[in-house]
Amino acid sequence: MSDKITALVEKITAALIAYRRDFHRYPESGWTEFRTTAIVADKLQQFGYTLRMGRKAIMEVDMMGVPLPEELEKHMERAVRQGAKAELIQVMTGGMTGVIADLKCGEGPTVALRFDIDANDIEESSDEKHLPFREGFASQNGSVMHACGHDGHVAIGLGVAELLAEMKDEISGTIRLIFEPGEEGSRGARAMVSAGAVDGVDYILGIHIGFQAKKTGQIICGTGKFLATTKLDVTYSGKPAHSGAAPEEGKNSLLAAATCALNLHAIARHGQGATRITVGTLVAGQGRNVIPPNAFFQMETRGETSELDDYMAEQSRRIIAAAADMYGCQYAIKQVGGTKSGESSPEMITKVKEIATAMPFFNDIIEYSSFGATEDFSHFMTIVQQNGGMGTYIMIGSDLAAGHHSNYFNFDESILAPGVELMVRSVLDLIGRK
Ligand SMILES: [Zn+2]
Repeated sequence: MSDKITALVEKITAALIAYRRDFHRYPESGWTEFRTTAIVADKLQQFGYTLRMGRKAIMEVDMMGVPLPEELEKHMERAVRQGAKAELIQVMTGGMTGVIADLKCGEGPTVALRFDIDANDIEESSDEKHLPFREGFASQNGSVMHACGHDGHVAIGLGVAELLAEMKDEISGTIRLIFEPGEEGSRGARAMVSAGAVDGVDYILGIHIGFQAKKTGQIICGTGKFLATTKLDVTYSGKPAHSGAAPEEGKNSLLAAATCALNLHAIARHGQGATRITVGTLVAGQGRNVIPPNAFFQMETRGETSELDDYMAEQSRRIIAAAADMYGCQYAIKQVGGTKSGESSPEMITKVKEIATAMPFFNDIIEYSSFGATEDFSHFMTIVQQNGGMGTYIMIGSDLAAGHHSNYFNFDESILAPGVELMVRSVLDLIGRK
């Protein structure tokens, strides 16, 4: 397969590593990816793409789990200090990070590629054994780290963008690149889908470094059994009272929340497939001798299918309301994350397999693997499939220094170039050629 594409990939290999290291040095977590988005947008514009940003890329009412305005403000300032163009940052006011980029090359199908761009709330290791630290590109942003490989995904995205732009005259169709914010916590896809990110999309591809593909040279061509999820923040408000003199005057939010937590875990499991539920935090009360007027907890449900997750979420809402009623408290539910289940399209898996087989780099080709966890990509893919299109989620194998979301996480940079090559060849196979 030594041809024009191979030559183009070789030409940008050093740039891919430089991109990756730059994004790794300045990681940003969900809805604060101001610098990352600005750098990406600037490049895409240079390559000739038409961009949608801010309100054109993100539907505000569907943004979930957005940090407080003062937090966002701080991150916007930091992004400019760290080299982002101020005019691009302004467009993202309110945390509307991420970008949708189109390259229209005449009549033909629309092929979309999704790249997630956010980092994790983790303090990166400053151990000499940790390569990013040793080589001087460890996180400069305290308590945030690219510990899932999304820095690599952004780099691959830019590589793909550049190569496809160079091959523009040979393509017939539209290329759409979706750089998604807030993938962690399943927060970004819904707001992008409602802003039209996958309107008119015939094929969609997603990629992740590592996960089940733990060796360099390995590839998983399609993934399924993504768990659907709903993430809720729940607040109870009651009434404080003296615990000795007048407990009968209080409304006990702590007991409402505790009763609720126990009964959420007791929801009858559905006969049609696997479900999960977790109350992960619970804080309540003000003092030892005060009837607790306040309680707050964070919970999530998951389901093998979107319907099963809907069942768990609906039952949860009923129990939250009933527990409030038992203790005479008020309650409020805020959805802070959520995504659909998903299954890659068999035809697309076959195509990716053929392409990977023809690339000497891949020596361990696995057709399909079940994900068994949640990925916001499944939200994009499911909507594309509902509209009559197809999609697949690929895992590019990499030797990993430590597991995902570990402070020692690092992947093998030699996979970036083959990642670009695989994506470019897949797009060229799906889209029309002149
Ligand atoms: Zn990830």
